[in-house]
Amino acid sequence: MKRVIAIDGPAGAGKSTVARRLAAELGYLYVDTGAMYRAMTLKVLMCGVNPADRERVAKIAQETNIALVTGPEGAPQVVLDGIDVTGRLREPAIDAAVSMVAAVPEVRERLLGLQRQLAQRGGVVLEGRDTGTHVAPHADLKVFLTASPAERARRRYRDLVAAGHRTTLDEVERDLRRRDEQDMTRAAAPLRRAPDAIELDTTGRSIDAVVEEILRYCREDA
Ligand code: C5P
Repeated sequence: MKRVIAIDGPAGAGKSTVARRLAAELGYLYVDTGAMYRAMTLKVLMCGVNPADRERVAKIAQETNIALVTGPEGAPQVVLDGIDVTGRLREPAIDAAVSMVAAVPEVRERLLGLQRQLAQRGGVVLEGRDTGTHVAPHADLKVFLTASPAERARRRYRDLVAAGHRTTLDEVERDLRRRDEQDMTRAAAPLRRAPDAIELDTTGRSIDAVVEEILRYCREDA
């Protein structure tokens, strides 16, 4: 049985839903690394700092504490400097700034330690952009999820509207494109598929089918 599973891919590829379901099926800890970068971004915005000001963002990172805890009903919670901020992490203002904050090496350094600590316990599903390449390069199973840009935008749009945000499909598509571009071209731990990752295109496939396929890989020996 695979003990450390890394799920990476671009925004809207279905990573969160798949990783969360997978962790529940296996009884593993779900580690949403994107939520940690979002919490750091929330802190930057709350401090009134421009997310493009790398120096000030780096300083904030050094003074910030982020933890992942399991909430009362087993749901993962993100704690920022002692306060549960889980409900605030999907706001469009964070979507717009998170890739800038995540590109700052001091931010990545700060969060990497925590992510590696969680990975080392085993029995984890790590989800993000660099979990198979940097956080857990020796993961037992690496999956790189993709989907067509149109489908990724539709999914993200649906989630935002369901959460009560006012936006348009066009706006969401532009935001995803910009975020992908920033995540793939940054110098520090850019988004890319690990050479030993299995690539799965989730376009037009149900979550159930994708989770089932990954579970089969998890149960394979070797
Ligand atoms: O997965 P999610 O959309 O919540 O990630 C938000 C952002 O956090 C990504 O666009 C990326 O900039 C950053 N991120 C990262 N490395 C990770 C996970 C997320 O840089 N491992």
